[in-house]
Amino acid sequence: MFQYTLFIDGLISEIEKSGCGVVFGNTSISSPTVADDMCLLSLWKPNLDIMLNICYNYSVTWGFEYGASKSAVMVFNESKQERKRNREERVFKIGSDRVKEVDSYCHLGVVIQIDNNNTERVEKHIGKARRELNSMSAIGMYPGGLDPTVASRLYWRVCIPTMLYGSEVWTSTNKEIDMLELFHRDAAKRIQWLPKQTNNNAVLATIGWRHAKMEIERKQLLFFGSICRLNEQCVYKQILVYRYKTFKSNIDGNDNCFFGLVKQYLTLLRKYNLYEIACDWIEGNINISKGRWKSIVSEKIHDREFSEWRVSLVGSERLCIFKTVVKAIRPCTWWKILRIRPRVRKKVLTVMKVLCGVYVFSNSPNNTQDCVMCTRNIQRTLKHVLFECTGMNYIRDKYVCELGKYGIDIKHGDDDVLRALLGDDEFWEVYDEINRVDGLCASANFVDEVIVRWNECYTSCNEHI
Ligand SMILES: [Zn+2]
Repeated sequence: MFQYTLFIDGLISEIEKSGCGVVFGNTSISSPTVADDMCLLSLWKPNLDIMLNICYNYSVTWGFEYGASKSAVMVFNESKQERKRNREERVFKIGSDRVKEVDSYCHLGVVIQIDNNNTERVEKHIGKARRELNSMSAIGMYPGGLDPTVASRLYWRVCIPTMLYGSEVWTSTNKEIDMLELFHRDAAKRIQWLPKQTNNNAVLATIGWRHAKMEIERKQLLFFGSICRLNEQCVYKQILVYRYKTFKSNIDGNDNCFFGLVKQYLTLLRKYNLYEIACDWIEGNINISKGRWKSIVSEKIHDREFSEWRVSLVGSERLCIFKTVVKAIRPCTWWKILRIRPRVRKKVLTVMKVLCGVYVFSNSPNNTQDCVMCTRNIQRTLKHVLFECTGMNYIRDKYVCELGKYGIDIKHGDDDVLRALLGDDEFWEVYDEINRVDGLCASANFVDEVIVRWNECYTSCNEHI
């Protein structure tokens, strides 16, 4: 690093002195550079040629060589036809070597596209994250393998950083966000051993995840904070302040003529009701520490994730029990039980599937059908098989005493008993943590036995038809 500072610093100041690069207010951003990864920015070709010449001469003076084949030029703001025509005529050179024009380039690990179409980049990131997730499967991401809470931690430490690398500066389309969410939800299902058809609105909350979009917004808000905390002399801070002032002067006029990342951040801050505080921060009236900003952002993101999730559950018939049992976005009770009692994993998984609406149980009071076991015409199938069906009497008799000890009466089951069986702590009469775990395990055993029996009948009955 030291030798780069030594070599490159003189070059950067020469380029700045030439006045050929891009200038924001009084700030020159002609050559954003990290170590040997150098980028030249110019508004027109003759200026860029001068800058390339400065680089070449500097390399001759100091005895190093530019790899023209590793360098590339990107020209923005041209239509496809213009680009095609212009490319036939214009030539960029460093020394005598030609530098090619490209449609995309990877600068500091972030791929930049000429037409801002980032679908390919998102696909690449997802591909990488998928390979990592698959290699985690080798450790055991199947029922009985890696514990969901452990797998979840691995996913957030390994796959998420890969998938969202550089997302602080992304401008994403809805299509790209959908692609990310699809992978993210599938990962949640795999990690929790839930089948693909599990309801999408259920699978993130039960393992305590936020949406990929929310994570991107969280990262962007935190990144905004990092720029705000920089020294006034720092070029990135100066750009932020300059762009902010332009944005503010534009705000009463036509908002649409202002583009770019700073606008994206300011729009995001507005969305989270953080705009006022951010203005004070940029203007230097207040200072917010890293930890404080992180907790402000986390709270806002969590509140929004929570309220959007609750809205998504409204009207979902399959999740009508789910939404009364799972009331928070955090690893659910059953995953905690599994960590303490790994042996009940199969049963816990059955309860999770019932909870997340995997099985075809109608919960609509208007929907009646004939029970496959007792042949009665019934409503609300789940409650019928658990509490009423005479075909399940022998299973109920087995568990009635044990569950009765915890105040759970399965002979007279109602909605509250159903919620309790599926993990809602509110209804359990327990005196300590071990007692609670015992109760929930008994509940898992009962639910599993009933559902397995019901599935057998349901399947054989449907085969006959
Ligand atoms: Zn029945």
